[in-house]
Amino acid sequence: MGGEEPEFEVAIVGGGIVGTALARALQGQRVALVAQAAPSRPAPGALDARVYAISPGNAAFLERIGAWKSIPQDRLAPVHAMRVFGDDGKARIEFDAYRSGAAELAWIVEDAELQAALRWGVEVFSAAGCERIEANAESVALSLSDGVALRAKLVVGADGARSVVRAQSGISVREQGYDQTAVVANFSCERPHRNVAWQWFQGGPVLALLPLPGERVSMVWSVAESEAARLMALAPRELCDVVALASHHSLGALGLVTVPRALPLRRLRAQRMTAPRIALLGDAAHVIHPLAGQGANLGLQDVRALADVLLGRESFRDAGESRLLRRFERSRAEAVTSMDAAVHGLHRLFGSARGEVLASLRNAGLNLADRLPVLKNLLIRQAMA
Ligand SMILES: Cc1cc2nc3c(=O)[nH]c(=O)nc-3n(C[C@H](O)[C@H](O)[C@H](O)COP(=O)(O)OP(=O)(O)OC[C@H]3O[C@@H](n4cnc5c(N)ncnc54)[C@H](O)[C@@H]3O)c2cc1C
Repeated sequence: MGGEEPEFEVAIVGGGIVGTALARALQGQRVALVAQAAPSRPAPGALDARVYAISPGNAAFLERIGAWKSIPQDRLAPVHAMRVFGDDGKARIEFDAYRSGAAELAWIVEDAELQAALRWGVEVFSAAGCERIEANAESVALSLSDGVALRAKLVVGADGARSVVRAQSGISVREQGYDQTAVVANFSCERPHRNVAWQWFQGGPVLALLPLPGERVSMVWSVAESEAARLMALAPRELCDVVALASHHSLGALGLVTVPRALPLRRLRAQRMTAPRIALLGDAAHVIHPLAGQGANLGLQDVRALADVLLGRESFRDAGESRLLRRFERSRAEAVTSMDAAVHGLHRLFGSARGEVLASLRNAGLNLADRLPVLKNLLIRQAMA
């Protein structure tokens, strides 16, 4: 082994929010980040149609690694309450930050703003894609698409749902399409949103409106693929009217402020999060339905767990030691499984067509859950981690 390639302690493949957050958390260590350019930030006054609801736990982590303060305050919107409606339009469950003893339930932040903040001061080794990895007992060799090679004690696959690192490590996946596409777009709203996040289960489709700075909201509408094609083909005025109607005019008249985007949805789970000298993080390891806004949050929790394991060990001689990777994998198994099961369960419960009995049961369940403070607190605690 050895040769001419530069050697690193950790090589991170993928510069989405998960890979970049890990690079940021490990700053000061010998880390190589293999990442394409971050998406360009929208012009002042314009908005990115991709947004995340970031949990308070992850916001605190982003603060600790110095990224949170780089997001302009006027591009962050706190969520103070959440209203979720069943598919009869009446049953509902409400979450309130104040009553949960928290300042906010989540923060809404644009993808491009978060990525720009995470990239601050992070050195990118190469923007070429990783094509091959080959692990031996001491290290892993990576070959990039521009012919450059490097070596690392540990390779982190943060390269998204179609992860090359995962495929090359022989880690298999369970995967299923949801036969749904998320249509995302931002709107101005006539009535103040008062920092409330809204969600309507619609007997299959799920519509969410998340508060943005100013009187604007971000929509994630998960619908059947054919319905997504129909929505995407609507003129802006028609789309506004359709969304206003579907949201029961809760925010009054809407005005489109970004070009809508359509993102196909799938569920994916890697059988393992590690292989010898390899760790998978974020969407490379697990992809969940966006109805709970928890995909990136799970990925950032992976980052926290791996950074803790790597930075917490006494001797930093080998980041790819199997006992460290086992510790990381064990620490994530339960949280990933329970979030995946909860989100998938909700999708199945509310995703089937409106059978009358099932519909009244699930709506009654929502009303009941709303009156059970213990259950509500459990749900909140999981979503805020
Ligand atoms: C409609 C929608 C709404 C969502 N809303 C929320 C939300 O509110 N809250 C939330 O927590 N989550 C949300 N999610 C989930 C969230 O978007 C993802 O979980 C998150 O973006 C995953 O980040 P990642 O960095 O793991 O992967 P990605 O964002 O997929 O990043 C992977 C990166 O790796 C790069 N890459 C790929 N292959 C290679 C290679 N071979 N070599 C080098 N680089 C490579 C890619 O270019 C990319 O930059 C939502 C998802 C959808 C679809």
